[in-house]
Amino acid sequence: SVQQASKPKVAVSPLVLEDVEEPPLNLYKPKGPYTATILSVDRLVGPKAPGETCHIVIDHGGNVPYWEGQSYGVIPPGENPKKPGTPNNVRLYSIASTRYGDFFDGKTASLCVRRAVYYDPETGEEDPSKKGVCSNFLCDSKPGDKIQITGPSGKIMLLPEDDPNATHIMIATGTGVAPFRGYLRRMFMENVPTFKFGGLAWLFLGVANTDSLLYDDEFTKYLQEYPDNFRYDRALSREQKNQSGGKMYVQDKIEEYSDEVFKLLDNGAHIYFCGLKGMMPGIQDTLKRVAEQRGENWEEKLSQLKKNKQWHVEMT
Ligand code: FAD
Repeated sequence: SVQQASKPKVAVSPLVLEDVEEPPLNLYKPKGPYTATILSVDRLVGPKAPGETCHIVIDHGGNVPYWEGQSYGVIPPGENPKKPGTPNNVRLYSIASTRYGDFFDGKTASLCVRRAVYYDPETGEEDPSKKGVCSNFLCDSKPGDKIQITGPSGKIMLLPEDDPNATHIMIATGTGVAPFRGYLRRMFMENVPTFKFGGLAWLFLGVANTDSLLYDDEFTKYLQEYPDNFRYDRALSREQKNQSGGKMYVQDKIEEYSDEVFKLLDNGAHIYFCGLKGMMPGIQDTLKRVAEQRGENWEEKLSQLKKNKQWHVEMT
């Protein structure tokens, strides 16, 4: 007989976070932000990753509740360079934890932040005077530092939970994986009495190379513990080649499994896209080509998916 993998789930609290019908929205606005505290900042990527991405845990003391898939705003310290005398503008970051946070107590939120750096297009040299204000502030912050947050915001990427046996196909590039980390912890790590996931979650993650993978240990563990409920496919653009010998992008992985993906969509699967705006045209082209090869009209299919609320996109 096959041994059932042991899958003890983590207790979460406070369970009142399940009781509200509607997600919390804009509890704190730019004119009256909440002052939270940085708990930890950890580099997520290996030495050979191009660029730096950090996992940042923020203590909000339970005062800025949110749901999986929402974002926080962060107001970096300092003056808005475009409007001297006024504070910096808010930057949005997708929350990478569940509503219970990484400590399962409802008091923290985690962000997955990529440092924005600037390379001079002429010389190819990094120009530190033009580096991103907020992402560098966050990645350079230290435990105990104060941080001004707003939100939570966003309803597009909330996890539909009416059917606990639904299929969720998640397509992420880079830090776009943040909301999906939250979904997957809720599905596979936490013991949430009112949400017992028994469906299929399928994550496609695109990054540059093995060292750039984000939360890979966590995802690999779900694969071992829930082989019937989780699939995980990685596209490493600088390490793998696609079928035509080019770089392996996330859409090439989707194409590899397009038969299954299209069947799942026909059966009502949700599909989510999160990451850089630049990734969307390539993905749409691939989906359109696949649909045409199957003798289907992509525009019609897409409008049907949108109408059925199966199509969820958040690009930055
Ligand atoms: P800014 O200071 O705003 O600069 C923007 C860019 O301009 C940078 O690349 C910078 O290098 C460049 N720049 C600066 N000065 C110059 C100059 N003089 N000339 C030319 N270029 C210049 N990001 C994440 O990392 N993780 C997330 O989970 C995430 N989620 C998001 C969710 C949503 C809904 C949205 C809208 C955005 C999200 N972002 C996320 C992006 C994030 O909001 C910021 O845009 C990003 O961190 C860059 O902000 P910054 O303050 O560091 O850069």
